[in-house]
Amino acid sequence: MSWDNSTTKQQQSTQAAALKAQVVDAVGPFSPFWRGRLKSLGKTASQVSSAETLATLPAVGERDVCADGNPAGAAALVLQAGESGWALHAEGPQLRKALASRLARPGSYRAVVEADIRPTSFVFAGLGMRFPVASTRGDLDVVARAGARLWQVLGLSRADVLVAALPLRPSASLQALQLGAIGAGCPALFPGDDADEVAAALRLVPATVLALPSGRAATLLEDLDEAGASLQALSTVLLIGAPSDDERRNVAAALSHLGRRVTVLAAHAPDGHRLLWGECPKGTGLHTYPDLELLQLVDPETGEATSGGGELVLTQLGLKGTALLRWRTGDLAEGIATGSCPGCGRTVPRVVGTRRGALVPSLALRTGTRGVDLRGVAAALDGRADVVDWRVVVGPSTRDGADEVLVHVVPTADQDETDVAVAVARDVRQAAGLLPTQVVVVDARDLPTGAALSRRVLVR
Ligand SMILES: [Zn+2]
Repeated sequence: MSWDNSTTKQQQSTQAAALKAQVVDAVGPFSPFWRGRLKSLGKTASQVSSAETLATLPAVGERDVCADGNPAGAAALVLQAGESGWALHAEGPQLRKALASRLARPGSYRAVVEADIRPTSFVFAGLGMRFPVASTRGDLDVVARAGARLWQVLGLSRADVLVAALPLRPSASLQALQLGAIGAGCPALFPGDDADEVAAALRLVPATVLALPSGRAATLLEDLDEAGASLQALSTVLLIGAPSDDERRNVAAALSHLGRRVTVLAAHAPDGHRLLWGECPKGTGLHTYPDLELLQLVDPETGEATSGGGELVLTQLGLKGTALLRWRTGDLAEGIATGSCPGCGRTVPRVVGTRRGALVPSLALRTGTRGVDLRGVAAALDGRADVVDWRVVVGPSTRDGADEVLVHVVPTADQDETDVAVAVARDVRQAAGLLPTQVVVVDARDLPTGAALSRRVLVR
């Protein structure tokens, strides 16, 4: 039985065991953030160690962990164990081996403990802020193994040659491609994202796969053409970061302008995660790894479980540096499909209709460009006693084209309108770290309508 063809029932039983081990033996005792969080919720780790009970935990995102926007808070997600704590929770065979060698070689026990839990490598993540994500050596092995699976999903082989035009700043996607290439035994070059450097790399190696960041892919292709890049051997363009329909169209147009017929595929690691999911070549969604992660969906406005589309919430299984539990990724998904993939037959869950980072869009406000956490804005408005209904509208102003965050509220009958507007502005700033461009007090019949990101958050 390989990772991608077991039955749903088999997957669920493997996943349930991995989830229990992660929650009870790793995150519950060793994550400072979750230890405190479970205590304040009055729950023990074993009470939330099944998929159903885990879903009762409020999901958390970067602003819950890094209160006031201070990225230092992310350190509390990194598992921290001493030698005695490790002995209580290490897997039996590993512990026996460590104890045996402790008798023979003093100091080796500590080395085993440290190898298991000590972070050795960091990447940066974050949508509205930037924070570090830690990996142990064991985590890096997991990333490499998942990378080898990514190559399988994408239909690539050792015969392929990858050139990745990604920024060299440490990111999960860059690390996952680097280790994935090693895991898959595939030659790979990482010249950075400067078009001239990439063109130079393409003159050195006949790339069959060119990885490009989704947001800049079309522009980079044009720049590469201008820089005289050689794309003769190219068979696949790999878009890193679930691309939007517009981004796909622009890439298709750029490729057709170059006169190249190549396959365009996508790979995506949600923000905070370290594993890249590959898109099925038949376009049926992103293939995930049920033994290494559990995916759930929540209503982006309330954070509560939802059965329809919603925000993708991630629980990592087996990762021991930064260990994410019920992590709000900021991605929206239409759904998580189970059962055999109609494209390739793999039975792993597929994430369908991903809109990357949609809940924390980068907005060019008059005060500067920044990621705006719409989950925080919604949280400040949801369930208020002084407001009957509300809408948030984000997007460019008709006046000068600058992006705006407009909050429309319908106060309850007994409330003073100005008081409500002031209180709403204050609470939004507290929860999302920015003042709305404007708080507009309206009658219910005058609430704006339009394209919705979620029920009450609209985009222009
Ligand atoms: Zn498939």
